Amino acid sequence: MTALQRPGARVVAGGTDILPNLKHHLGLPSRPSGPEGPQHPAELPPVLVSLSRVTALRGIALDEAAGVLRIGAGVTLSQLSEHPEVVARFPSLSQSAGAVASPPIRNMGTIGGNVNLDTRCRYVNQTHFWREALGGGCLKSEGNVCHVVPGGRNCVAAMSSDNVPVLISLDATIVQAGPEGVRALPIEEYYKADGLAHTNAKPGEVTTELRVPLPKGPRRSHYIKWSVRKSIDFPLVSVALRFDLEADEATVAAVKVVVGVLGSKPRTLGKLDDVAGKKLADPAVARMVADAAYAQCKPLENVPYEAAYRRDMIRVYTRRAIEALAAAE
Ligand SMILES: Cc1cc2nc3c(=O)[nH]c(=O)nc-3n(C[C@H](O)[C@H](O)[C@H](O)COP(=O)(O)OP(=O)(O)OC[C@H]3O[C@@H](n4cnc5c(N)ncnc54)[C@H](O)[C@@H]3O)c2cc1C
Ligand code: SF4
Repeated sequence: MTALQRPGARVVAGGTDILPNLKHHLGLPSRPSGPEGPQHPAELPPVLVSLSRVTALRGIALDEAAGVLRIGAGVTLSQLSEHPEVVARFPSLSQSAGAVASPPIRNMGTIGGNVNLDTRCRYVNQTHFWREALGGGCLKSEGNVCHVVPGGRNCVAAMSSDNVPVLISLDATIVQAGPEGVRALPIEEYYKADGLAHTNAKPGEVTTELRVPLPKGPRRSHYIKWSVRKSIDFPLVSVALRFDLEADEATVAAVKVVVGVLGSKPRTLGKLDDVAGKKLADPAVARMVADAAYAQCKPLENVPYEAAYRRDMIRVYTRRAIEALAAAE
């Protein structure tokens, strides 16, 4: 049995998400409140497996034969955001990686950790003392209720990764290696609507690589996020946009828009077919897509700020992003 197959074993990459969570006794198997409280040592992972010296996970390589950019799970967010191929071919991915937290965190944090980031909620990403004041935690910590959806039996904590909506918008594939072998699946299928277990990772698996298909024609892509402090905070609203263009580089051939920070998985907008054939610079395009985002996205009170305000901001930020794309040279 490998260390990763031990029950409760956890992987540490940059440690920028898992270590604060462990200090707050989050992301651990659920346990009843008791006199020993969250400090009970048996509740902590029996083993942490560091990936920091696995150099095989660290490369970014253009694979023209397979038509993909291969990104190792151990690549840091700084390396990803600044890599020339990423900047040139996938501007939205460069933007999203460069929008995570602050430079020191981007120098430590990896893309593998980012796509496996735990879900977040205003009621659970707090100290144990704070959570106790709510009357004993919630489904994701020490309790058995949900404060976001009273009476709900399903955790709806938010997927707050900056990069995941972008990787979905680019039709990326995630590669998982584990005791049963190596498998690759569309990253969109890796997530599920369950804040307690929001990925389809199998026991003992690690993410080894992300594969992003190279554009087959002209394309514009953009990532936009709203957060309180641009220098450090998680997104409260995030939108990833990809417009594939006709050969004239002005007419929309296809569009894919993915919105984050709703529930435990990002939402890919539907009903955008009418945008095809229109000029990207046509103000109707920005209006149609922004209205679709507003109609199809219903934020919850799982992160700070009122859900109704965040819903308005999804429309505003989507429109702004498309206007910026249309204005770009
Ligand atoms: C102050 C602060 C602000 C932040 N702001 C943002 C933000 O704005 N946007 C954002 O997206 N994130 C933010 N983060 C979260 C975090 O820094 C990033 O998401 C980072 O990319 C996590 O990567 P890591 O390598 O540090 O992951 P780790 O903390 O090492 O791991 C995170 C999770 O992924 C798992 N994991 C790691 N690598 C692998 C792998 N290869 N295979 C399988 N599982 C793996 C770990 O077991 C753990 O569950 C913030 C964190 C802090 C502390
Ligand atoms: S969504 Fe509900 S159950 Fe999930 S972390 Fe928030 S309060 Fe807890």
